[in-house]
Amino acid sequence: MKFGGTSVEDPQAFRRVAKIVQAHAQMRPVIIVSAMSGVTDALLQSVQMAKRGELEQATSTLEVHFDRHLKVATSLLSAREVARLESAVESARRQICGLLRKVSTRMHLEFLEDTVVSYGERLSAELLAAVLCTDGLPAKHIDARRCITTEETHGGAQPLVRETEDRTRRELGPLVEAREIPVLGGFIAATKTGKTTTLGRGGSDYTAALIGAALRTREIQIWTDVSGVLTADPRLVRAARTIPCLSYREAAELAYFGAKVLHPKTIRPAVERGIPVRVCNSHRAQDEGTLIFSGSEFVPHTAKAIAHKTGITVLQITSARMLGAYGFLRTIFEIFDRHRTVVDVVTTSEVSVSLTLDDTRALGEILTELRGLGTVEVEERRAIICVVGEGLRTTPGVAARVFATISDINVSLVSLGASNVNLTFVIDEERVREAVARLHFAFFEQEVESVCGNHQSRTTAGASTGLL
Ligand code: ADP
Ligand code: ASP
Ligand code: MG
Repeated sequence: MKFGGTSVEDPQAFRRVAKIVQAHAQMRPVIIVSAMSGVTDALLQSVQMAKRGELEQATSTLEVHFDRHLKVATSLLSAREVARLESAVESARRQICGLLRKVSTRMHLEFLEDTVVSYGERLSAELLAAVLCTDGLPAKHIDARRCITTEETHGGAQPLVRETEDRTRRELGPLVEAREIPVLGGFIAATKTGKTTTLGRGGSDYTAALIGAALRTREIQIWTDVSGVLTADPRLVRAARTIPCLSYREAAELAYFGAKVLHPKTIRPAVERGIPVRVCNSHRAQDEGTLIFSGSEFVPHTAKAIAHKTGITVLQITSARMLGAYGFLRTIFEIFDRHRTVVDVVTTSEVSVSLTLDDTRALGEILTELRGLGTVEVEERRAIICVVGEGLRTTPGVAARVFATISDINVSLVSLGASNVNLTFVIDEERVREAVARLHFAFFEQEVESVCGNHQSRTTAGASTGLL
């Protein structure tokens, strides 16, 4: 059971989590928890301030967050536990100050950043374990860095699956057997030699999937602030609604193309072990949420959801040398490989390749190398929109329907068929809100003809999928 930052934002939220864990205690849960909401951002900001030499401000901006932890402790724990938590917070404060001082002298920056940021999850996990114990549950805080083992990259390290599985079973197996409830911070990890690393922003979902896969749990539950995976990002579309079931492939595509509710890497460990993933709302535990599993019913002629991702850069590489030449694409992609940069969408013509990047940290070096191969055009502030559904495979005219809905919006880089479950394309970032809202209306809100069982019936916004 993984609880995200907004599920542990204040004393009431901790109370809600304790109640949910209590209700599942018979199922021998393992708990993964994110930093309290806003804490990871604040820690990262304090590192940036320290880098600029603003040491005083770097430490003082964290005070309000230390106080939030203390407020949870004083609201929910016994006096003895409050004293223990106070000293844990005090020691975190001292250590963070020491680390920020080192950051300001620019020593081993990346390693220090991960270590500073790890305190968010270390404190929230310690606090949640104490709250659960106060409720009479046999909870025990385990430092996740003893379980999740990664390679040496910082800021988004790749887990070493075998080591992670071995260590997780060794650390948690006996506790679960003894009916204790391990409580681990998500997102944080360590290298084989014990250096602190992190799994990338939003990585607590991934921790839950890795731990679930290692322990072969019956289910991986992601508890968040919405009732499951919705038909679109609710921040853009107020009418977005819960999708009851998704296949692994549908969920993976949605997560990859921007549905923030799941970290993009969450699905893989679950698929490999065939473990269902359930997304639930910690604010409304009674809601059904979404179940992601392999047997998810195939619904023909339907779109299940629309995801989008902004801040995308499009590169178009044109070279006459590409005409009829083999090995050209490999040469291009080797450049991205060398700079450890992921390419999301690719389309090619006889003499050009267009592709999209989310991470542009190495763009300067990449462009220098690409310009050795041909001319390169760069378009910034683009957005990817992705319409997802297993039913798209068997549906003629999907693209026509999508593009007719947004016919006045310029579309580039269209990709349909690579995974069979999505139609992906790129538009100007400025028009993304409007495009997603219009597509959502067309596929999920408009009155449509629907076939329910053997009856022909008319359905409106209550339908769980968008008929094409
Ligand atoms: P947590 O702190 O629980 O990890 P996140 O903020 O990472 O929560 O993810 C939940 C948020 O994801 C929701 O509040 C919602 O705004 C956003 N979101 C974006 N797309 C979707 C979607 N398709 N379905 C559900 N939530 C989405
Ligand atoms: N606390 C981390 C973040 O804010 C990880 C997570 O919440 O999943 O990115
Ligand atoms: Mg998240």
